[in-house]
Amino acid sequence: MPSEPDPDAAANVQELLGGRFGEMSTLMNYTYQSFNFRGRKKVKPFYDLIANIATEELGHIELVAATINGLLTGASEGDEVTDAPLKGLKGKGIPHHYINNGLGALATNSLGKGWNGEYVFNSGDLVLDLLHNFFLENGARMAKIRVYESTDHPVARQMLGYLFVRGGVHALAYAKALEELTGVDVKKMLPIPKIPDSAFKEAKQFTDKGMHGKLYRFSPEDFKDISAIWRGEHPIDGTPLEVVDGLPESAGGPADPPEDKAVSSPGLHPEELQEIAQRLISRL
Ligand code: MN
Ligand code: MN
Repeated sequence: MPSEPDPDAAANVQELLGGRFGEMSTLMNYTYQSFNFRGRKKVKPFYDLIANIATEELGHIELVAATINGLLTGASEGDEVTDAPLKGLKGKGIPHHYINNGLGALATNSLGKGWNGEYVFNSGDLVLDLLHNFFLENGARMAKIRVYESTDHPVARQMLGYLFVRGGVHALAYAKALEELTGVDVKKMLPIPKIPDSAFKEAKQFTDKGMHGKLYRFSPEDFKDISAIWRGEHPIDGTPLEVVDGLPESAGGPADPPEDKAVSSPGLHPEELQEIAQRLISRL
């Protein structure tokens, strides 16, 4: 991910990882709700929807962490520890990114405060839990828009464009689930805030592919009943809503941030690592 380092943007993006409305919160809310779901056989499409969306959120954590790592890559100056290579970071971003971490993503919000298990809501009442999830996705959208407004860094904005679209799918899915249960047309409230994804040029490449109408099914055998809820047309532009068996198109393999000697990461000289790797390989 070659780009200019931006520790201040990395700090703001942390809100989308470990903040109240961040990806750790969406993952853990839907995970606990699915683990604790009582009487799930009777209302399987709703159980499938929550459990399947939880699975997608795990991928979002990886994406946001990779973005933070990209924004921190190159933030140190030089390799010599005695030359104060981290001096230039003073007063920028979150000091824990380099004091406790090796210039990597933290499980914290933008203030450096740890993600909190009290962000997980699971009343057991399906309508209330789905209403909470609808609120959570829209709170997440608000936070993403605020971060978008705070940075024009292309790496941050590319990630935001993708997550605007995927978060929009989740908000609509919960709205449709609530409509099935209660008859209330919750989707009329969307989008919240009242700014369409098409206002963001970084989202357009994904809406052009119809990704705002696709709910990916993350298991070959499970979650098949989501198609009972995710059907019909997108309320904003009429795109057909479809369940796709399999993963979204990949933007490449797992992120692989380069080493950084200023924070002793990974800690050994490249020659030493090569020697150790060769020793391990010779055992195979
Ligand atoms: Mn997400
Ligand atoms: Mn989501």
